[in-house]
Amino acid sequence: MSTTALEPTAATAPEAVPGGFAEFVALRRDLHRHPELAFAEHRTAGVVAAQLRHWGYHVTEGVGGTGVVGRLQRGDSTRCIGLRADMDALPITEASGAAWSSVHAGCMHACGHDGHTAMLLAAARHLALHGRIDGTLHLIFQPAEEGGGGALKMMEDGLFERFPCDAVFAMHNMPGVPQGHLVFRSGPMMASSDYATITLQGTGGHGAMPHRANDPIVAAASVVLALQTVVSRNVDPLQPAVITVGAIEGGKANNVIPDAVRLELSVRALDPAVRTLLEQRIRELVAAQAQSFGVQAHIDWRPGYAVLVNDAQQTRRALAVAQRHFPADQVQAEGPMLTGSEDFAFMLQRVPGSYLLIGNGAGDQHGACMVHNPGYDFNDANIPTGARYWVALAEDLLSPQP
Ligand SMILES: [Zn+2]
Ligand SMILES: [Zn+2]
Repeated sequence: MSTTALEPTAATAPEAVPGGFAEFVALRRDLHRHPELAFAEHRTAGVVAAQLRHWGYHVTEGVGGTGVVGRLQRGDSTRCIGLRADMDALPITEASGAAWSSVHAGCMHACGHDGHTAMLLAAARHLALHGRIDGTLHLIFQPAEEGGGGALKMMEDGLFERFPCDAVFAMHNMPGVPQGHLVFRSGPMMASSDYATITLQGTGGHGAMPHRANDPIVAAASVVLALQTVVSRNVDPLQPAVITVGAIEGGKANNVIPDAVRLELSVRALDPAVRTLLEQRIRELVAAQAQSFGVQAHIDWRPGYAVLVNDAQQTRRALAVAQRHFPADQVQAEGPMLTGSEDFAFMLQRVPGSYLLIGNGAGDQHGACMVHNPGYDFNDANIPTGARYWVALAEDLLSPQP
């Protein structure tokens, strides 16, 4: 493990926040200064593990790579719940201008996982020192949410066998939603996310003599347009779906017809049946288009994250806790579906639970800048809010029985 020392300096001293949370703002900014990419969260995991141990948690490191699980057990109850935070950063060069900006070029916490970690640690301290719980609390600090499937890696490493959970919960910040607002949704909430690389193999030649070649660029142009009809003509108009051709590569010169063109696709759905339909129609269209142009098509299909489906009963319970502890106008019972994706979906396939959003701010810099933007920063005002919610949820689900 690398250093676990925090580095709050005058430049990073947190402004006034509700009592007891200043050290977690400093911790969040320390994590922000030292972001780590998927499965390389060694320093972050070290900070998390050291803090949890300090408060008396039983800590297991190295779960699914750099994952950390803290266990707190009180009383005789066999009930057990899991609260999950993600720890990884993104390969983006920071431009937020914050005093606590990343010290690593090409790497930043642009999705607020530094904040998710800090919120759960702030809750962890309160629960260890003052928590009224009867049962077992598993705090799951996950690596590699950003495309690396850290949740699956932890599960393949026996997460739920070694640390059983009756229910699991996770929280993600959302710019554009007022700070501290808690957004719930029962059923499908986040999209599946699949990737496809399509290679169209033609025959290269001179740009002046296209009849002596077999042009994959014209075929690729037609494929891109044909793909637009899948969502508009094949998918139920009331079902969300996305097909984005995010990259197209082929050719180097105006007078050379290339041999091949490569297309990169992102494919998303919020219903498993729609997900299946998208793959089927993409394969059919690409094959038919390729045949009509006399080129060879190869599709490398890589399934990504599953549709995230919140359990109805657990979501009702998580919502009720928010409604008891926060003002009515701060709690949204039925938020929108989102076309982003999240590997917490895999945990929810195994254990019932719920994923909620916490507003990062609206009408200010925290709301204007979306996650994955170089200017993004997590809103530290959410550390007390998020921690209070986690504490309330844990104390409700593991409330001492009379
Ligand atoms: Zn992200
Ligand atoms: Zn994220």
